[in-house]
Amino acid sequence: MLKVSDIHAGYGRVEVLKGVSLEASHGEVVCLLGANGAGKSTLLRVISGLIAPAKGSVAFLGQEITRKRPDDIVRAGISHVPEGRQIFFTLTVQQNLLLGAYAHGCKRAELDKLYQSVFDLFPILKERFAGKAGSLSGGEQQMLAIARGLMSRPKLLLLDEPSLGLAPLLVQNIFSIVKDLRAAGIPILLVEQNVAAALKIADRAYIMETGRIVTDGNAAALLGDDEIRKRYLGM
Ligand code: ATP
Repeated sequence: MLKVSDIHAGYGRVEVLKGVSLEASHGEVVCLLGANGAGKSTLLRVISGLIAPAKGSVAFLGQEITRKRPDDIVRAGISHVPEGRQIFFTLTVQQNLLLGAYAHGCKRAELDKLYQSVFDLFPILKERFAGKAGSLSGGEQQMLAIARGLMSRPKLLLLDEPSLGLAPLLVQNIFSIVKDLRAAGIPILLVEQNVAAALKIADRAYIMETGRIVTDGNAAALLGDDEIRKRYLGM
Protein backbone atom coordinates (compact mmCIF):
# COMPACT_ATOMS: atom_id res chain seq x y z
CA MET A 1 0.00 0.00 0.00
CA LEU A 2 2.78 2.41 1.01
CA LYS A 3 6.31 1.98 -0.25
CA VAL A 4 9.01 4.40 0.92
CA SER A 5 12.32 3.88 -0.87
CA ASP A 6 15.73 5.28 0.06
CA ILE A 7 14.50 8.65 1.31
CA HIS A 8 17.06 11.35 2.02
CA ALA A 9 15.58 14.53 3.47
CA GLY A 10 16.13 17.21 6.07
CA TYR A 11 15.92 20.89 6.84
CA GLY A 12 18.12 23.28 4.87
CA ARG A 13 21.54 21.73 4.63
CA VAL A 14 21.01 19.37 7.52
CA GLU A 15 20.30 15.84 6.31
CA VAL A 16 18.02 14.14 8.86
CA LEU A 17 16.90 11.05 6.90
CA LYS A 18 19.78 9.11 5.39
CA GLY A 19 18.26 6.51 3.11
CA VAL A 20 15.06 5.33 4.79
CA SER A 21 12.91 2.59 3.25
CA LEU A 22 9.74 1.09 4.68
CA GLU A 23 6.42 -0.44 3.67
CA ALA A 24 2.91 -0.66 5.06
CA SER A 25 0.16 -2.95 3.82
CA HIS A 26 -3.62 -3.19 4.02
CA GLY A 27 -4.90 -4.12 7.49
CA GLU A 28 -1.68 -3.33 9.36
CA VAL A 29 -0.65 -1.13 12.25
CA VAL A 30 3.02 -0.41 11.56
CA CYS A 31 4.99 1.25 14.31
CA LEU A 32 7.94 3.59 13.81
CA LEU A 33 10.07 3.71 16.95
CA GLY A 34 13.32 5.32 18.00
CA ALA A 35 14.89 7.91 20.26
CA ASN A 36 14.02 11.62 20.15
CA GLY A 37 15.49 13.25 17.08
CA ALA A 38 15.87 9.97 15.13
CA GLY A 39 13.79 11.42 12.30
CA LYS A 40 10.40 9.74 12.76
CA SER A 41 8.28 12.89 12.45
CA THR A 42 10.43 14.05 9.54
CA LEU A 43 9.64 10.80 7.71
CA LEU A 44 5.90 11.31 8.24
CA ARG A 45 6.28 14.86 6.88
CA VAL A 46 7.97 13.51 3.76
CA ILE A 47 5.16 10.96 3.22
CA SER A 48 2.46 13.62 3.59
CA GLY A 49 4.28 16.04 1.29
CA LEU A 50 5.19 18.68 3.89
CA ILE A 51 8.90 18.19 3.16
CA ALA A 52 10.27 17.42 -0.29
CA PRO A 53 12.99 14.76 -0.13
CA ALA A 54 16.37 15.37 -1.71
CA LYS A 55 16.42 11.79 -2.94
CA GLY A 56 14.25 8.67 -2.94
CA SER A 57 10.59 7.99 -3.61
CA VAL A 58 7.23 7.45 -1.95
CA ALA A 59 4.60 5.34 -3.69
CA PHE A 60 1.03 4.91 -2.48
CA LEU A 61 -1.37 2.35 -3.98
CA GLY A 62 1.03 1.95 -6.85
CA GLN A 63 1.18 5.68 -7.68
CA GLU A 64 4.27 7.82 -7.24
CA ILE A 65 3.41 10.62 -4.78
CA THR A 66 6.91 11.96 -4.11
CA ARG A 67 6.89 15.79 -4.23
CA LYS A 68 3.11 16.00 -4.73
CA ARG A 69 1.35 18.79 -2.85
CA PRO A 70 0.08 17.90 0.64
CA ASP A 71 -3.57 18.52 -0.35
CA ASP A 72 -3.18 16.20 -3.35
CA ILE A 73 -1.71 13.56 -1.05
CA VAL A 74 -4.73 13.95 1.27
CA ARG A 75 -6.97 13.48 -1.77
CA ALA A 76 -4.96 10.39 -2.72
CA GLY A 77 -5.93 8.93 0.68
CA ILE A 78 -3.20 9.71 3.23
CA SER A 79 -4.13 11.69 6.33
CA HIS A 80 -1.50 12.96 8.78
CA VAL A 81 -2.38 13.55 12.43
CA PRO A 82 0.65 15.57 13.53
CA GLU A 83 2.60 15.54 16.78
CA GLY A 84 1.20 18.10 19.21
CA ARG A 85 -2.29 17.77 17.65
CA GLN A 86 -2.18 21.15 15.86
CA ILE A 87 -5.88 21.75 16.24
CA PHE A 88 -7.25 25.29 15.95
CA PHE A 89 -8.08 26.39 19.50
CA THR A 90 -10.19 29.43 18.61
CA LEU A 91 -12.38 27.48 16.18
CA THR A 92 -15.21 25.20 17.27
CA VAL A 93 -15.01 21.41 17.23
CA GLN A 94 -17.29 21.46 14.18
CA GLN A 95 -15.07 23.95 12.33
CA ASN A 96 -11.95 21.85 13.07
CA LEU A 97 -13.71 18.78 11.69
CA LEU A 98 -14.91 20.69 8.65
CA LEU A 99 -11.30 21.65 7.84
CA GLY A 100 -10.43 17.95 7.81
CA ALA A 101 -12.99 17.41 5.05
CA TYR A 102 -11.84 20.45 3.05
CA ALA A 103 -9.62 18.66 0.51
CA HIS A 104 -12.62 16.70 -0.83
CA GLY A 105 -15.04 19.67 -0.89
CA CYS A 106 -17.80 17.60 0.74
CA LYS A 107 -21.53 18.17 0.21
CA ARG A 108 -23.87 18.69 3.19
CA ALA A 109 -25.34 15.16 3.23
CA GLU A 110 -21.91 13.61 2.94
CA LEU A 111 -20.60 15.83 5.75
CA ASP A 112 -23.39 14.73 8.08
CA LYS A 113 -22.42 11.10 7.43
CA LEU A 114 -18.77 11.87 8.16
CA TYR A 115 -19.66 13.70 11.39
CA GLN A 116 -21.73 10.69 12.43
CA SER A 117 -18.86 8.29 11.71
CA VAL A 118 -16.48 10.26 13.94
CA PHE A 119 -19.15 10.60 16.66
CA ASP A 120 -19.46 6.80 16.64
CA LEU A 121 -15.76 6.60 17.53
CA PHE A 122 -15.63 9.69 19.77
CA PRO A 123 -19.08 10.37 21.31
CA ILE A 124 -17.65 13.26 23.35
CA LEU A 125 -17.13 15.27 20.17
CA LYS A 126 -20.87 15.25 19.53
CA GLU A 127 -21.46 16.75 22.97
CA ARG A 128 -18.76 19.39 22.40
CA PHE A 129 -19.57 20.01 18.72
CA ALA A 130 -20.41 23.73 19.08
CA GLY A 131 -17.76 24.45 21.74
CA LYS A 132 -14.31 25.92 21.14
CA ALA A 133 -11.57 23.33 20.55
CA GLY A 134 -9.38 25.22 23.06
CA SER A 135 -11.80 24.34 25.86
CA LEU A 136 -11.31 20.56 25.38
CA SER A 137 -9.12 18.48 27.70
CA GLY A 138 -5.82 17.08 26.36
CA GLY A 139 -7.39 13.68 25.65
CA GLU A 140 -10.37 15.26 23.90
CA GLN A 141 -8.04 17.42 21.81
CA GLN A 142 -6.20 14.29 20.69
CA MET A 143 -9.54 12.70 19.78
CA LEU A 144 -10.43 15.81 17.79
CA ALA A 145 -7.07 15.69 15.98
CA ILE A 146 -7.65 12.04 15.00
CA ALA A 147 -11.28 12.74 14.08
CA ARG A 148 -10.21 15.68 11.89
CA GLY A 149 -7.78 13.32 10.15
CA LEU A 150 -10.60 10.84 9.55
CA MET A 151 -12.83 13.51 7.99
CA SER A 152 -10.81 13.21 4.77
CA ARG A 153 -11.82 9.52 4.52
CA PRO A 154 -8.22 8.28 4.57
CA LYS A 155 -7.05 4.97 3.20
CA LEU A 156 -3.93 5.28 5.39
CA LEU A 157 -3.53 7.24 8.62
CA LEU A 158 -0.19 8.66 9.83
CA LEU A 159 -0.38 9.09 13.60
CA ASP A 160 2.43 11.01 15.30
CA GLU A 161 2.72 10.51 19.08
CA PRO A 162 -1.01 10.27 19.82
CA SER A 163 -0.46 9.37 23.49
CA LEU A 164 1.97 12.22 24.26
CA GLY A 165 1.10 14.05 27.49
CA LEU A 166 -1.99 11.96 28.26
CA ALA A 167 -2.89 10.25 31.55
CA PRO A 168 -2.51 6.42 31.54
CA LEU A 169 -6.24 5.74 31.21
CA LEU A 170 -6.51 8.04 28.19
CA VAL A 171 -3.43 6.42 26.66
CA GLN A 172 -5.23 3.07 26.82
CA ASN A 173 -8.25 4.72 25.24
CA ILE A 174 -6.18 6.05 22.33
CA PHE A 175 -4.54 2.65 21.73
CA SER A 176 -7.92 0.96 21.74
CA ILE A 177 -9.08 3.48 19.11
CA VAL A 178 -6.03 2.60 16.99
CA LYS A 179 -7.17 -1.04 17.14
CA ASP A 180 -10.74 -0.03 16.23
CA LEU A 181 -9.45 1.88 13.20
CA ARG A 182 -7.46 -1.12 12.00
CA ALA A 183 -10.58 -3.29 12.44
CA ALA A 184 -12.51 -0.70 10.41
CA GLY A 185 -10.01 -1.24 7.59
CA ILE A 186 -7.78 1.83 8.04
CA PRO A 187 -4.10 0.88 8.23
CA ILE A 188 -1.94 3.07 10.45
CA LEU A 189 1.68 4.17 10.47
CA LEU A 190 2.19 4.99 14.14
CA VAL A 191 5.04 6.99 15.70
CA GLU A 192 5.05 6.39 19.44
CA GLN A 193 7.34 6.93 22.46
CA ASN A 194 5.17 4.56 24.47
CA VAL A 195 7.10 1.62 23.04
CA ALA A 196 5.69 -1.34 24.98
CA ALA A 197 2.06 -0.32 24.46
CA ALA A 198 2.67 0.41 20.78
CA LEU A 199 4.37 -2.95 20.13
CA LYS A 200 1.54 -4.77 21.86
CA ILE A 201 -1.02 -3.51 19.35
CA ALA A 202 1.19 -3.22 16.25
CA ASP A 203 1.65 -5.89 13.57
CA ARG A 204 5.15 -4.83 12.56
CA ALA A 205 7.66 -2.21 13.63
CA TYR A 206 10.67 -0.31 12.32
CA ILE A 207 13.27 1.09 14.68
CA MET A 208 15.13 4.25 13.66
CA GLU A 209 18.41 5.65 14.89
CA THR A 210 19.89 8.93 13.65
CA GLY A 211 18.09 8.97 10.33
CA ARG A 212 18.35 5.27 9.46
CA ILE A 213 16.22 2.18 10.00
CA VAL A 214 18.39 -0.07 12.15
CA THR A 215 16.03 -3.00 12.49
CA ASP A 216 12.49 -4.05 11.65
CA GLY A 217 10.23 -7.05 12.07
CA ASN A 218 7.16 -8.58 13.62
CA ALA A 219 6.09 -6.43 16.61
CA ALA A 220 5.67 -9.33 19.03
CA ALA A 221 9.08 -10.75 18.06
CA LEU A 222 10.78 -7.37 18.61
CA LEU A 223 9.06 -7.00 21.97
CA GLY A 224 10.25 -10.46 22.98
CA ASP A 225 13.87 -9.89 21.91
CA ASP A 226 15.92 -8.92 24.98
CA GLU A 227 18.85 -7.63 22.94
CA ILE A 228 16.60 -5.34 20.84
CA ARG A 229 14.73 -4.14 23.91
CA LYS A 230 17.96 -3.24 25.72
CA ARG A 231 19.78 -1.80 22.75
CA TYR A 232 17.12 0.26 21.02
CA LEU A 233 13.96 0.43 23.06
CA GLY A 234 15.29 1.40 26.49
CA MET A 235 13.26 -1.38 28.14
P1 ATP B 1 10.80 13.46 18.39
O1 ATP B 1 10.16 12.35 19.07
O2 ATP B 1 11.69 14.26 19.30
O3 ATP B 1 9.89 14.31 17.56
P2 ATP B 1 11.71 12.35 15.90
O4 ATP B 1 12.36 11.03 15.74
O5 ATP B 1 10.32 12.50 15.44
O6 ATP B 1 11.84 12.77 17.42
P3 ATP B 1 12.26 14.59 14.20
O7 ATP B 1 11.24 15.47 14.87
O8 ATP B 1 11.97 14.06 12.87
O9 ATP B 1 12.63 13.40 15.18
O10 ATP B 1 13.62 15.40 14.18
C1 ATP B 1 14.80 14.89 13.56
C2 ATP B 1 15.87 15.97 13.59
O11 ATP B 1 15.41 17.04 12.75
C3 ATP B 1 16.15 16.55 14.95
O12 ATP B 1 17.54 16.77 15.04
C4 ATP B 1 15.40 17.86 14.95
O13 ATP B 1 16.05 18.81 15.76
C5 ATP B 1 15.46 18.26 13.47
N1 ATP B 1 14.27 19.05 13.11
C6 ATP B 1 12.99 18.69 13.28
N2 ATP B 1 12.15 19.64 12.80
C7 ATP B 1 12.94 20.62 12.31
C8 ATP B 1 12.68 21.88 11.69
N3 ATP B 1 11.43 22.30 11.46
N4 ATP B 1 13.74 22.63 11.33
C9 ATP B 1 15.01 22.21 11.55
N5 ATP B 1 15.32 21.03 12.13
C10 ATP B 1 14.32 20.25 12.52
